[in-house]
Amino acid sequence: MCKQCDLMRFSRRGLLTAGLVAAAATVLPPLPAWAQQAAPNAISPDEALARLQQGNARYAANAPTNRDYAAGRVARAQGQYPFASIVSCADSRIAPELAFDQGPGELFVVRVAGNFINEDGLASLEYGAAVLGVPFIMVLGHSKCGAVDATIKVVKDGTTLPGHLPSLTNAIRPAVIAAQAKNPADLLAEATAENVRLNVKSLLVAKPILSEMVAAGKLKVAGGVYDIATGKVMPV
Ligand SMILES: [Zn+2]
Repeated sequence: MCKQCDLMRFSRRGLLTAGLVAAAATVLPPLPAWAQQAAPNAISPDEALARLQQGNARYAANAPTNRDYAAGRVARAQGQYPFASIVSCADSRIAPELAFDQGPGELFVVRVAGNFINEDGLASLEYGAAVLGVPFIMVLGHSKCGAVDATIKVVKDGTTLPGHLPSLTNAIRPAVIAAQAKNPADLLAEATAENVRLNVKSLLVAKPILSEMVAAGKLKVAGGVYDIATGKVMPV
């Protein structure tokens, strides 16, 4: 789908969300017939989660789908219909498409070290949900996360990291402090889970787009932690 078409759909959805159906009908031209057909990603949030879980089970069992990457290239040039957004760490050992056994065009992935939501990440997720019709967002932490581990050291030692690294540790700091309060046996694991939980919460109440889609039942947000040693994603 062309960018203009995307923007047209975005405007339309925004207006509909605001309850301005009449305004949308007057202001916007009607969608072409092909655009009114159900998109391939027009599935329920629960079905999207089930697809991710089944894909991860195949990956963890080392039995991924045998893919022909050339097939569907021409069709993909016409538009994208991802069924899930993944907020992932930048860690090279995590590859969302592999971990969930999905092909090109199926996942809308936002990555930043420490898998937290910043302004640009939120905007990307809003685009995915409101424009592309993504019904499910997973915030995906992982074991042995260097960004979370670095933040623990910063919090414990009161040190300041060089360059722009403090922008990462400042974002992860609330999760470390929340985890410390629980006095866990494994602070890194607890802070990693807490970081996922906090970012799921922030997405659920992110106004105006995501929170409205969640309230309308069009979008669900959940968290998971990827275990590097097993390849399995566990809910948190
Ligand atoms: Zn990480």
